[in-house]
Amino acid sequence: MITIKTKKEIEIIRQNGKIVAKTLDLLCRSALPGVSTNSLDIIAAKFICDNGAIPSSLGYNGFPKSICVSINEEIVHGIASGRRLEEGQIVTFDVCLKKDGLHADAAVTVPVGNVSEKAKKLIDVCNESLNMGMKEAIVGNRFSHISFAVYRYVKSQGHRVIRDYGGHGIGKELHEDPFIPNYHCKCKKLGPVIQNGMVFAIEPMICIGKRFVKVLDDKWTVVTKDNSLSAHCEHTIAIIDGKPEILTKL
Ligand code: MG
Repeated sequence: MITIKTKKEIEIIRQNGKIVAKTLDLLCRSALPGVSTNSLDIIAAKFICDNGAIPSSLGYNGFPKSICVSINEEIVHGIASGRRLEEGQIVTFDVCLKKDGLHADAAVTVPVGNVSEKAKKLIDVCNESLNMGMKEAIVGNRFSHISFAVYRYVKSQGHRVIRDYGGHGIGKELHEDPFIPNYHCKCKKLGPVIQNGMVFAIEPMICIGKRFVKVLDDKWTVVTKDNSLSAHCEHTIAIIDGKPEILTKL
């Protein structure tokens, strides 16, 4: 069931979204060669707690860290460790937190130092596909309009979308209905109609190679099976007066 949020609830998620955005900004500025992913996790956890929020990832189904840090072929759910970032890598930070009973969730992929042209393009395509998806998040459209916009753009740029994971409603729970795939098969149902007061996260995950994934032995880290580079970005948005408002922005 998709819940419709009150204005008050949306305002709380908006405030929480600002903390998410500031945490991501801090992480992006700290993502330098030689920095361990553990130290980035600690920086984020401290910032989130200093702002009176709780990292939603910590303890979620047993997840051991406060944020997800995924490098290169790692798509999502990477676990921070003693591993140090290296020049030329791309790294994804996924930050979700809860305060006053409501969650906000966003992610971004950034370069570590100088990266290849193909890595830059992958990140640009991912960001633009999120923009394309958000543009379709208008009252009267269906969720499949978002899915198809993301898919069509990524495909047009010669990349692939990951089908195993996707966006989701968000509110009192981190993951609520509906599931929002990043692809749309014409043979499938069109999905629910988008309405005012809905709050959800759109999160394209894309890769350069084949779209197939595997989960590493740590039971969390999802990587591309062919080890091709992947990128992931995400915003939590609310539908207000028929249009999308990004809640996870500075
Ligand atoms: Mg999410």
